[in-house]
Amino acid sequence: MKKERQKSRTGIKPPDPSSATLAREGMIIAHRGVAVDVVWDDGQRGVVRVKRRSGHVVGDRVKVAGEVLEQLPRQTELRRRDAHGGIHLVGANLDVLGVVVAPMPLPPGFIDRAIVSARAADLQPFIIINKCDLAASAELVRSLSATYTGAVPVFSVSAATGSGLSPLREFLKGHRGAFVGTTGVGKSSLLNALCPEIDLKVGEINVEKDRGRHTTTVSTLHSLSTGGELIDTPGFQDFGLVDISAQELAVYFPGFEKTGEHSCRFRDCRHRTEPGCAVVGLVAKGEVQAERYETYLEILNEVEAGEAESRRREWKK
Ligand code: GDP
Ligand code: ZN
Repeated sequence: MKKERQKSRTGIKPPDPSSATLAREGMIIAHRGVAVDVVWDDGQRGVVRVKRRSGHVVGDRVKVAGEVLEQLPRQTELRRRDAHGGIHLVGANLDVLGVVVAPMPLPPGFIDRAIVSARAADLQPFIIINKCDLAASAELVRSLSATYTGAVPVFSVSAATGSGLSPLREFLKGHRGAFVGTTGVGKSSLLNALCPEIDLKVGEINVEKDRGRHTTTVSTLHSLSTGGELIDTPGFQDFGLVDISAQELAVYFPGFEKTGEHSCRFRDCRHRTEPGCAVVGLVAKGEVQAERYETYLEILNEVEAGEAESRRREWKK
């Protein structure tokens, strides 16, 4: 109310308090291409029309005055890359990212890249090993726990039997997150197991075609009855995380946080042959496994090659 009065002093016509034109704040909980569902801070829900490619995403805090939807500053932004290299914003103000895996082939470096991307975007990453009802999962749980315990939380669950879901629910309390992982690991099954009322909501949503070329993805934020929120978008199922930079990789590679206070001599150290490298020191002491360091160097080489390639393309333009 205070703001409105200030406005009228500046000569702008004050809004009629009896109409719906009063400024309200809330959060976008679903995006349907040309409209968004908002939960207002007073708990009421509403639908606001938006332009295509308006840039609003689920999780955005918004303010509405009349017809105008204004986006409030974001704490975090999660981006993805589509099959054509286009970059899309997936969600705003998320604070955790679940990397879902299962006993099935995994692209090399997938988990590490996802963890680095999450950390670079200021989201806390965690790993969910799904399908723990399958005998084949025991080896995966053993190896991933050995590699990632201490770096990120690791949960072993079964969406099918419900086993292990309680610690995961506990972890999600007070957080807003999303799941990433390759097709078939069980991301949808997990969402359904964690939010049993989801089926109904998803069934109501139509995915609209945008001029026949791009599919408008509908994304929804689901509240868990035990606390916490998860976002879900059809186009998000297999998303490629936006490329990480070599510098982000060097800072956020899981396992390297063990350097703690003992940082490298050079701030932009890539932990290769630089003198005074704390990571190389940890590898020498066996505190970072040689195998993990090899994986890091492989991803670093790829990322650097990618960066060099995009610089070449820039020059050609
Ligand atoms: P998504 O592509 O990651 O969303 O994976 P889905 O949720 O569609 O699941 C892929 C397949 O894995 C389906 O056939 C599911 O029934 C199966 N699945 C999902 N979770 C589990 C689980 O915990 N155990 C077993 N055995 N199968 C599962
Ligand atoms: Zn270093």
